[in-house]
Amino acid sequence: MRTSHYFAPTLRQVSGEVELASHRLLLQAGYIRQVAAGVYSLLPLGVRVTRKVENIIREEMDAAGALECFLPALHPLELWEKTGRAEYWGPELMRLKDRSGRPFCLGGTHEEVITSLVAGEVRSYRELPLNLYQIQTKFRDDPRPRGGLIRVREFIMKDAYSFDRDVAGLDRSYDIMVEAYHKILQRMGLPYHVVEASGGGIGGWDTKEFELPSETGESRYLRCEKCEYAATPEVAEVKPPAPAERAEALPIERVETPEKRTIEQVTEFLGVSPRRLVKTLVYQVGEKVVAALVRGDRDLSEDKLRAVLEARVLEMAGPETIARVTGAPVGFAGPVGLKGVEIIADEELRNEANFVTGGNEADLHLRNVNWGRDFEVSRWADLRCAAEGDPCPGCGASLRELRGVELAHVFKLGTFYSEALGAYFLDEDGTRKPIVMGCYGIGSTRMVAAIAEHYHDENGLIWPPSVAPFDVIVIPVNHDDEVHRSLAERIYEELKAAGLEVLLEDRVERPGVKFKDADLIGIPGQVVVGRLAKEGKVEVRRRGGESRVAPAEEVGSVLRELLAS
Ligand SMILES: [Zn+2]
Repeated sequence: MRTSHYFAPTLRQVSGEVELASHRLLLQAGYIRQVAAGVYSLLPLGVRVTRKVENIIREEMDAAGALECFLPALHPLELWEKTGRAEYWGPELMRLKDRSGRPFCLGGTHEEVITSLVAGEVRSYRELPLNLYQIQTKFRDDPRPRGGLIRVREFIMKDAYSFDRDVAGLDRSYDIMVEAYHKILQRMGLPYHVVEASGGGIGGWDTKEFELPSETGESRYLRCEKCEYAATPEVAEVKPPAPAERAEALPIERVETPEKRTIEQVTEFLGVSPRRLVKTLVYQVGEKVVAALVRGDRDLSEDKLRAVLEARVLEMAGPETIARVTGAPVGFAGPVGLKGVEIIADEELRNEANFVTGGNEADLHLRNVNWGRDFEVSRWADLRCAAEGDPCPGCGASLRELRGVELAHVFKLGTFYSEALGAYFLDEDGTRKPIVMGCYGIGSTRMVAAIAEHYHDENGLIWPPSVAPFDVIVIPVNHDDEVHRSLAERIYEELKAAGLEVLLEDRVERPGVKFKDADLIGIPGQVVVGRLAKEGKVEVRRRGGESRVAPAEEVGSVLRELLAS
């Protein structure tokens, strides 16, 4: 390929709001262009890297026994209504109607489509296990798309779905996929942490995220450096504190707190630390109303609360429900005098006494509130998000908070989708059973951005050879010099014949422009044909690394050595 006939429009500067280096560099180097918020075109270089990433994924999926399909992006909304996910996803699911008014959506994931496919075809235990995957475009109407290809509304991902007879089979299929993911990420050359997480909008258990540690990442997780335990704050287990004697209960006091609703407003007004407050969060779980209590400086984990309540869906109570159970507007809820509400409290509050809570009246808070005396706790549980410095549930060492870019996600789904969509099979003993499912996602366009985020310097991108758009770029320094030009042409042909993917920089440009662009684009091998060309020698460089002078005939072998380093 020749740059004179290539389409990689580079930019010296990028305008607009660009926070991440990967976003800026992929724009500058001509890999992507924005079409709308969170919607991008991949230019030829962008496509080449994406295909490399996808081929690694494809090879490892095939090697793990998964079978490639290609499902539609356009789904009848009816399928999503059968599983209740049309409602659960809400506006994040992109919806549309066909010309006859039939509702459709653009797939955000493919559980519904693949499960209904399997429901129609698989009859017997003999046809299981089965693992189907695809590399497909997904749509999610993210309210805040940002970071170039990191967080977008349209993206490409590989999603695989396993179908098994029973949970033991699912466990095996899951382990095979996790192993394949390790291989994929190692081949990409990326460091990563495996993080225990929650199923979120897809549900399931034994959820793991593969995170690229990155200070600019959007995910937050806690990790133990001693035993490598890692989990999201919502999921990381917090052991109850050792029992301690509580301070003596003081008489309860009413304090006027006009218009002070938030923790910040109340603590500032009362001159107390947020840890002296107790937050009362009111949830609607089906017909039931539940109040969850956590310390004022902590965050409630809805995942933990959901698990305690064994509820699939948890909704913050609306203003009407709050008014009914507390008798007060939103912002003044507290545990004292709640009507018809189950109170679940975080374990950390067991040792606490004399705290501040909402007063269940407008503009009122209470001081010196004590559980047992002023209200009853019906259940104690681990409800709060873990935080930096909390002890590791595995070994007790201190957890550290890290930020990362989520690269991949695996779940055990169980029978939720098969039951909703009628995917049953006849087992060996003649009984009809729902198929047990797992699902495994890895984003290919996000992976491209993540690799760019990890591998770059101040001059541009530095692709690992396994995913680089080309192996090498050949740069004649002076286009007008016949010796430079003809030697560059010769090396270009020889390297191509040796099976390398080569880009020849044959534009009529100043040397400075050619070097700048080559560094920006980040092809790992550079062959510079310049001053030494008349002696038949060239400079072979590893982008961002070592450089050697070599005779023209040895370029191929020197290049392979440098790229392997
Ligand atoms: Zn540990």
